[in-house]
Amino acid sequence: MKKITLPLAVATLFCSATASSAELAYIDQARLHDIADAISAQRIEQDIRTLVGFGTRHTLSDTTSDTRGIGAARRWIKQEFDKISAACGNCLEVYYQSATISGEKRIPDATEVVSVIAIQRGITDPERYLIMSGDIDSRVSDVMNATSDSPGANDNASGVAGTIEAARVLSQYRFNGSIVYAALSGEEQGLFGGKIMAEQAQKDGWRIKAVLNNDMIGNIEGINGVINNTTARIFAEGTRQTETEAEARSRRFTGGEVDSPSRNLARYIDLIADRYIENLDTMVIYRLDRFGRGGHHRPFNDLGYPGVRIMETNENYNRQHQDLRTEDGIKYGDTIDGVNFDYAAKLTALNATSLASMAWAPNPPVNVSIKGAVQPSTTLSWNALNAEQNPHLAGYKIYWRYTDAPQWQFSRFVGNVTSFTLDNVVIDNYFFGVASVSKDGYESPVVFPGAAGAFGE
Ligand SMILES: [Zn+2]
Repeated sequence: MKKITLPLAVATLFCSATASSAELAYIDQARLHDIADAISAQRIEQDIRTLVGFGTRHTLSDTTSDTRGIGAARRWIKQEFDKISAACGNCLEVYYQSATISGEKRIPDATEVVSVIAIQRGITDPERYLIMSGDIDSRVSDVMNATSDSPGANDNASGVAGTIEAARVLSQYRFNGSIVYAALSGEEQGLFGGKIMAEQAQKDGWRIKAVLNNDMIGNIEGINGVINNTTARIFAEGTRQTETEAEARSRRFTGGEVDSPSRNLARYIDLIADRYIENLDTMVIYRLDRFGRGGHHRPFNDLGYPGVRIMETNENYNRQHQDLRTEDGIKYGDTIDGVNFDYAAKLTALNATSLASMAWAPNPPVNVSIKGAVQPSTTLSWNALNAEQNPHLAGYKIYWRYTDAPQWQFSRFVGNVTSFTLDNVVIDNYFFGVASVSKDGYESPVVFPGAAGAFGE
């Protein structure tokens, strides 16, 4: 959502003519501006060039060469994370995560799908995870072609370079929650790297509060000729895949179709863009992904974790999944000249500030419930957060909005309590949620009441 400043007379007219929203109060965080400013387009360019330089990063490509293929690419990514870790006093846990996949349409023969993961461990709540991801692998026209040149500059060296750059900048800080930087593999062959990571995380009991999947964050020239470097898209699914029949029944009567944790994560990032990223307006899209297309946030959504896809607004299909060639005067292929590094840096800054803000905030409120039928007031309740994990908790903030409004409109900080009644706010007329707030003013995403909106423990 864009903040629009109107001349006073017009603003007054608007307010009297429409149901207006109050400007949401927040504390401007100097550290988030610093983080946004520290993201370097030049380093992102250098990393994209390096990744493109491996010729192809197809999942089934050569793994033994030091200069060509996905093996060389993933070893270089591991080295970069190791370097970043060495520069921050070993603040990252860097490892390969792999599984052997076979018998799949796009991976018929046994192939090791290997991702590279770096964890920046949180201080007070190390088992709370915020994940930023991009994809290592690339492809050309034939999805099984593992030998032709396949630069994958925008799809998705841009996402991996952004993830590495975010690690460089964020590793200069210490956070309450853990931040995970993931370069995932096997995306084009069927979202395998994300699936392997999500399933392992579930087995290990990770409390995942956000997945920010970056897939194509560098193209500013649409296939239709539009050139635009001031907007981005955040795709966020609606009702959860893991919703039970009983939960769906209760949602039918109390709402929540547009308030999954993924959606409220997207609204959070949208506000971060307005507040901390100059000249960027994000469009929250009420969809899991684009029509008939996929991305690595999905395997996390499949298991019920909050996750979104962040990407450019204008795609250029001549540059995606194409053999390098010129045909009828049109140049095809995902080459480096199709990437705008300043724009990739802008979207990386959006990721980094969003991750930092959430990692400094307390855990999102747990077990939020609401009541107020046939009363003029609305009561929200939630569990007290674990004090050891959240020693910096100041209290909670209730948010509400008209039911057809896309973004939260009204808020009230209610202190460190576990229940609060909003007098004279009728439950039927608004959607409600609760965020937790740190002593420094960092806020969690807003949690919609009930199973439909829950971010988990
Ligand atoms: Zn792709």
